[in-house]
Amino acid sequence: MDAGGGNAAAEPLDLPALLTRAWIGDMIGAMVVAPPLLALRARPPRPDRAVLVEGALQAGLAVLVLGLLFHLPVAVEWQVIDLLVLPAIWAAARFGVGGAMMINVVLQAGLVIGFVTVMHDADGLTAYQLRMLILTLSTLFLGVAVTGRRRAEDGLRRRQDQLESCARLSLAGEMAAALAHEINQPLSAALTYARTAGRLLDSGAADPARLRAALAGAASQTERAGAIVRSLREFIGRGELDRRRHDLPVLVREALALVDAERQRAGIRVEVALARGLPPLLVDAVQVQQVLVNLLRNAIEALDDEAAAPGATPGGGRRLLTVTAWREPGGLVAVEVADSGPGLDPELAGRLFQPFATTKAAGMGLGLAICRTIIEAHGGRLWLAGDSPRGCAFRFTLPLAEQGGGG
Ligand code: ADP
Repeated sequence: MDAGGGNAAAEPLDLPALLTRAWIGDMIGAMVVAPPLLALRARPPRPDRAVLVEGALQAGLAVLVLGLLFHLPVAVEWQVIDLLVLPAIWAAARFGVGGAMMINVVLQAGLVIGFVTVMHDADGLTAYQLRMLILTLSTLFLGVAVTGRRRAEDGLRRRQDQLESCARLSLAGEMAAALAHEINQPLSAALTYARTAGRLLDSGAADPARLRAALAGAASQTERAGAIVRSLREFIGRGELDRRRHDLPVLVREALALVDAERQRAGIRVEVALARGLPPLLVDAVQVQQVLVNLLRNAIEALDDEAAAPGATPGGGRRLLTVTAWREPGGLVAVEVADSGPGLDPELAGRLFQPFATTKAAGMGLGLAICRTIIEAHGGRLWLAGDSPRGCAFRFTLPLAEQGGGG
């Protein structure tokens, strides 16, 4: 341990050694003292109990190694000094630059106290301090790297949180828009039934059977609006579907009944061709009816618009709506809703299923986007199966309750 490099006889040569010692001493002092002073100015938050306990253990380990260092024979001293790396790395890796600063203070203070009280050897101190300077710097760099990484991780986490809250907000917006779109139809139907009931009563000689039918219609449409709200809330809010076994013919019949008034008013003929013996589906009935009602209403509106268009030849067998279904391989059923309308507006090309893509003055452009979300949540697919000036066809698949047996 002759890091001093000279001997006591060569007095004038002591100057460089003295300068070296002073420089190393100053450097180490600056490295150990300056960072905590600067950090204190930034008023760091109070550490919690667990951090204090772990910090105390790290300081304890440092004191233990220093104790060993000063009480072991000189021959093993240099091997033990490397053990000081342990509390230094522990502190820097766990607590970043803060931990590095604290452990450096403890190590330096311990070293100086040890030399003053145990060794009384200034030359030896220089050799130790050179080693300690390297350890101090390495610990600081490690601490800075750990803190930098933690800040980057925190930043990333904050951005993720922001993104999630944005997603929740836009989900809330989507839910509001979807609700507005989906309950519009049953509410206007209920209004129509209620007005019919009012007119019947005003006429003075209301047929009780017709009156009851109108009121029952208003009640069932209102119930349906409630069911849609509940089902959409569960679906969009928690991504859950109330899947049960349902027969497709029943779902189709009910959906057709829901749009029957509009269809009849527009004078549209409907043909239903469902394959015989279709096994039950495993679906959320309210949601699947939403899909069917949306597709049927789009078809009816397309046919109705065409009839209203200038130069159109209204009526006749051309105004046709068909619902077809058949079994597909892979435990699926395919359903197609087709019409003999004018086909898609070319303006919609490429964005038909995107929200707010609409050609209707009062349209929201959400129907097809909602339909696709619902069908995909069931594990099926929804796509445009045909589009020509003679009509449009939308097709979707849904899973069977028992998927064995394939096609
Ligand atoms: P909305 O009905 O509110 O406009 P949709 O998402 O249900 O929203 O439909 C988007 C657009 O797709 C409609 O505005 C219409 O232009 C077009 N479309 C949908 N179905 C048909 C159809 N059967 N025939 C012609 N165009 C259709």
